[in-house]
Amino acid sequence: MKSRLEQVYVIGAGPAGMGTAYELTKGNTAHSFDLHILDKDSVVGGLAQTSEFHGYKFDIGPHRYYTKNKEVLALWQSILGKDLLTIPRLTRILYRHRFFRYPIHIPDVIVNLGLPEAIRCFLSYCRARIFLRKLQPKTFEQWITKHFGSKLYHIFFKTYTEKVWGISCSQIGAEWAAQRIKNLNFVAVAKNALLKKKGDTEAKSLISTFWYPRFGSGSFFTRLQLQCEKKGAQFYFNQTVGTLYHENNLITHLEVNGKKYPVDSVFSSMPLPQLIQSLDPLPPESILKAAAQLSFRDHITVNIIVDNPRVVPDNWMYIHAPEVQMARIANYTNFSSCMIGKKGTSGLSVEYFVFQKDPLWNSTDAEIIALAKKELVQLHLCTDDELKEAFVTKERDAYPMYYLGHKKYFEIIQSYVSQFTNLALIGRGGMFRYNNMDHSLYSGMLAARNYLAGKQVYNIWNINEDAEYHE
Ligand SMILES: Cc1cc2nc3c(=O)[nH]c(=O)nc-3n(C[C@H](O)[C@H](O)[C@H](O)COP(=O)(O)OP(=O)(O)OC[C@H]3O[C@@H](n4cnc5c(N)ncnc54)[C@H](O)[C@@H]3O)c2cc1C
Repeated sequence: MKSRLEQVYVIGAGPAGMGTAYELTKGNTAHSFDLHILDKDSVVGGLAQTSEFHGYKFDIGPHRYYTKNKEVLALWQSILGKDLLTIPRLTRILYRHRFFRYPIHIPDVIVNLGLPEAIRCFLSYCRARIFLRKLQPKTFEQWITKHFGSKLYHIFFKTYTEKVWGISCSQIGAEWAAQRIKNLNFVAVAKNALLKKKGDTEAKSLISTFWYPRFGSGSFFTRLQLQCEKKGAQFYFNQTVGTLYHENNLITHLEVNGKKYPVDSVFSSMPLPQLIQSLDPLPPESILKAAAQLSFRDHITVNIIVDNPRVVPDNWMYIHAPEVQMARIANYTNFSSCMIGKKGTSGLSVEYFVFQKDPLWNSTDAEIIALAKKELVQLHLCTDDELKEAFVTKERDAYPMYYLGHKKYFEIIQSYVSQFTNLALIGRGGMFRYNNMDHSLYSGMLAARNYLAGKQVYNIWNINEDAEYHE
């Protein structure tokens, strides 16, 4: 009699779930398990997917490919081949109606701010070096002030960071700054501006080229899907995992779109607090309360066709200007010509960072598009008549909030979930980690290797511990 194959389920076909699927199916096609990948969305790629609109392609906010992980890079190269492009990076900050190159370029700062203000920035940096030398920063504000001085903090970090997170920089934990811009400080920026030489120790916020798939970020994942399907993986879309049933420290069944399926092993990239609330039986009250303290920032993109081939030369631009709500724009023309449907035009995305309770999240698409267009005109980036068709994407739970004090709640949840011996948490929302694509992909790959080895060979929580290049 044929023995029953193990039923392996992956929740989410974003980078993390795709990393799991790839690793479980690579090699030969004879498996001792059935592999099911479920996603509530209709395509693979999660936050890194690419949408088509009137022949134009748009990511969910610009998704550059960059990694220090050789295995991830090798996978990108093997799947994309010549379609993995190397793109020169130009990113600038728009502030006080002026463009500042990012990473900061000192002559640029002097010209834009004027010599007296630039000198004030330098003196403020010197004050920080003297008076904050021994400070152990607890908050984002303290971390930046210590490394750049108070003046540069106010000009280049405060407004944008507060737009992104929706809370004061004094409520954001220092670990986010350390993770996002580790190795970056006034001296590193000055060296970068004055000496062109680049080395391994270069802070990753200063990266001057990046990779990008010719047909958009999501094209890597659609190709990977085909490869996994050839090796027996089964993908199911528009399938929402609602309940995870458990008994004796094992997840026994999943409820998906109202149907119950027996499971032997589960990899989950669904948002961690949501997973906790979906357990049946429910965890103790203290765990539910801790999970409720883990929150996310949500994200809106307005993708617009612009009847102008040269809107801005940047790949993306940080909009620090406090007079508008938008936080970032991206010009896909400067990523790959294949993103653009018609020669002589551009594809622009405008990003807003919000909470679901905010009026903007609850506005209609037409109202959100009207706001984005109005702000582009207000900033003199486009004229009204250039701005053509547009569409909106809304992403819940896009950014795990590293607010001051969140860690103790996270650790409670992490310890509680570790009791489930057949459940692996993977990815950004799944692990409640501020991951980039490569970290998420790799978390899925290592979790799969643990499953294949039948024991925990890799500690997935170590991935992205020393990450240095978040944007
Ligand atoms: C605006 C923006 C810009 C970014 N830019 C970059 C960049 O330039 N470079 C970079 O490397 N990274 C970037 N990132 C980060 C990158 O998008 C993420 O790290 C990556 O997509 C996370 O992959 P994931 O699989 O962990 O999670 P996700 O991409 O969130 O995928 C999770 C999947 O699970 C599915 N799911 C959730 N709940 C359920 C459920 N209950 N049932 C079934 N399915 C479910 C979702 O539909 C989703 O498809 C950016 C992110 C954002 C938001």
